[in-house]
This record gives sequence, C-alpha cells and structure tokens, in this order.
Amino acid sequence: TNDFSEVIENDRAHVWHHISQHKRYETVDPMVIIEGKGMNVWDAKGKKYLDAVSGGVWTVNVGYGRETIADAVREQLVKLNYFANSAGSIPGANFAKSLIDKMPGMSRVYYSNSGSEANEKAYKIVRQIAHNKYGGKKHKILYRDRDYHGTTITALSSTGQLQRKAQYGPFTPGFVEVPHCCEYRSQYGECDDYGIKAALAIEEVILCEGPDTVGAIVLEPITAGGGVITPPEGYWEKVQEICKKYDILLHIDEVVCGLGRTGKWFGYQHYGIKPDIVTMAKGVASGYAAISCTVTTEEVFNHFKNDPSDSMSYFRDISTFGGCTAGPAAALENMRIIEEENLLENVTRMGAYLIDRLYELKDKHQIVGDVRGKGLFCGVELVVDRDTKEPVHESITQAIVADCMSQGVIIGATNRSFTEFNNTLCLSPALICSKVELDEIVAAIDNALTKICS
Ligand code: PMP
Repeated sequence: TNDFSEVIENDRAHVWHHISQHKRYETVDPMVIIEGKGMNVWDAKGKKYLDAVSGGVWTVNVGYGRETIADAVREQLVKLNYFANSAGSIPGANFAKSLIDKMPGMSRVYYSNSGSEANEKAYKIVRQIAHNKYGGKKHKILYRDRDYHGTTITALSSTGQLQRKAQYGPFTPGFVEVPHCCEYRSQYGECDDYGIKAALAIEEVILCEGPDTVGAIVLEPITAGGGVITPPEGYWEKVQEICKKYDILLHIDEVVCGLGRTGKWFGYQHYGIKPDIVTMAKGVASGYAAISCTVTTEEVFNHFKNDPSDSMSYFRDISTFGGCTAGPAAALENMRIIEEENLLENVTRMGAYLIDRLYELKDKHQIVGDVRGKGLFCGVELVVDRDTKEPVHESITQAIVADCMSQGVIIGATNRSFTEFNNTLCLSPALICSKVELDEIVAAIDNALTKICS
C-alpha cells in the first residue's frame, strides 16, 4: 500500500481548512480523502467510510467514480477546454436546453462556478432591473432567517445565520431579513395555519419596508444548512401570492435541492411555485466539475434584451470560468445518468424508507425532538427536553457526528453554522443509495445516540 504520510503532513502544514479542524489537527491527523466509489470514500490511512452526505455538503448526487462523466469531461477538454462565455460552446448550449426542458416556465441560463456566484448574479439582475425600470427603487432583497446563500460578503449579507456572519460585517446594504418558517419552532405557538402565518410575516416586512422598495426575495425551497426545514403547509402558495401582489421577483436558491435531491428535478417543483430566478450549483455536475447556473424566465431576460437605452447591456458580466466547458460537459452526463438510472424515483422510494427509519429513532431516543425531510434530504433535530424543545449543546451534536465517523459513517450536522440551533443531524446520501446503505447509516446513528445519551 502507498504511504501518504507526506501528503498528510503537507495538508497539515499548508492547507487552510475550517479553523475548528486545525485545532483538532493538533491531536489527530488531518483527514485526507483519496478515493471514492459509489457511496464510499477512503482516507489516506486506508479507512473506508460510507458517505451519508454526498461529499460532505450535498454535492456528489450520482455517487463517486463515475467513469462516463470523467470520459465526457476528458473528451470535451481535448476538443475545447475553454472560451469566454461571450461565445457559446457545444456542452454549454446543450446543457442549457436540457436544463430548461426540466424547468417549465424558465428560459435563460447564466453559467458561473459556485452557488455564491450564482446568487450574486441573481442579486445583480434584481439591482439592474431596479435601476433601469424603477429609477433605483425596488432595490431591496429580502432573505429569510436560517437560510444560507453563500460565502461571499454579499451572499452572506443575504444569509440568516448570525454565527456565520459574526465577524464579516459591515454587510452589503439593501438586504432585509424575514422570519423563518420552521414549524417545530413556531413563533406563534401551535396553530393549524402556521404556513399562512409564516408567509404573512413576510408581507409584514414588505409593508414595513415599503413595497416600492422591495425588488426580490431569495428563499431556499427547503432550508438546508440552517436545519433541513421543510416548508409548512400552505406556505409557498401564500408566498407566491404575496410576491405577485407587490411585484416582487421570487428567487429560489436550489443550490442544495437542485438536480434530484428531493425526488423532483428541483425542490420548488413539489410546491407549485413559479419562480422568476432559480440558482443551482452543487448537484449540477455532482462535483465532477465546478459549475453553477442562474436561471431566469424570458420575462426577466427581456428587461435586458428590450432595454431601449441599451444601458443594461453596457454592463457585461463575464465570469471567466463560466466559459469552462468541463462544467456543462459533466452536467450533461450527470443529468443523463439521473434519467437513465431512474434516480428521481429511487430518491422518492429511498427517502420514504429513510424517514420511516428515522421516526423509529425518534420512538427509541428521547433526545430526538423532530425528524424532517423530503426525498434524500433529512434532518434529525436533537433536544434536551421534548417539552421545552431546548436544543442540545453543539458538543453533543458533534460527539454524535464523531462517533458515526469512528464507525465509518460520515453524517453532517448544522453545528457551528448559527447561534442557537447547532443541534440538527443532516443526512443526504447519494441518489443511488439502497436500503442496505440506509440501514447502515441509521444503525450508526442509533449506536451513537445510545452511547452518548445514556
Ligand atoms: N446556497 C445554499 C442553499 C447553499 O447551501 C450553499 C453552499 N452550502 C450556497 C448557496 C453556496 O454555494 P457555494 O459554496 O458553491 O458558493
């Protein structure tokens, strides 16, 4: 076997990870992942892990080691690796068409390289429309408490997770927070119409700010890093109605849910939403290449195309690496795999199985306060007391994650992402998973809960 001790030392000495990791690396070796196949990865010491979070952050949707994606990328790179996206490319044009075919009502695709960048592009679209159509009014963008939209300063300005933002201010002006829609932590106590109330809370903010100042709202279809928050009943219909009423663009951030994670191509498609802008990244090419998309309706695009003064076309966005052909080449093959292997159907079936198994954990362990999810996108919220719903300390969440890791199962958690609720375990296995793997994942969590909570 190979000796990777030099690699481990190079990583420890020179790579900048999460700072919390570096503290750990004083006592343990850095984890260096060197290989992946299907749902498994191997670290530099030869230890095998079952990956229940698709590359740590909901990304490797079709699993590791896909030769046909590697082949498609290689073929494309040899033919043409790059040209600025002022020109078209074969995979760029073809993937745009394939994508739009899955998104009735949408029309235009702008390519860039990360979810943050895709969101920034969306915000710039909103701002440009505000300047050109509304004389600078309607420039504000609403975002929701507990949602996350990226790493850049402006993406963070639109993020509702205090702890993530703590040391990065001042933020970009013009972003306004609206309340979350976590029914488990309802702001109105128990009620039958929580979804409507949570949506009306958005309207209140709009009225307070002045509808003529608000251009758009950005929302995750299911809040991911903020705790896998599935929307309450009636929520989306009402949100859509409010957006229409005040002429506010609806921007859905599908960076996590996009490309099959919840059993449909996009999360919003479960809820009958008609977005104006959709952004996506992680699962677009399952991590085989860096690619993100900002997708708009033709109506949004027409603000630019039909601008009589031509002032909107003057400011031309060219994302250098948006012209990389590896991204759309990988994305095309990724999408073909999802279709050919009927993975959306697998997600629906396996997701239903997983959530049932997680409910069994809830029956067994008092610490499990709530189980939520859609498709292969599930959260297990841990509490000290089911009545008070007091969240467990993040050290408990982390101990469970670490214990699963020692059992060879990688799970995720909301820890350290924001102030109060660092208490939700996150599961998002690859769309290819079977009951055997799900059983192994649930068994590991079961063991960890038994050990840590007894
Ligand atoms: N939006 C959401 C919902 C995300 O979860 C993330 C990443 N975790 C992003 C945007 C940012 O994507 P990226 O890290 O590719 O910039």
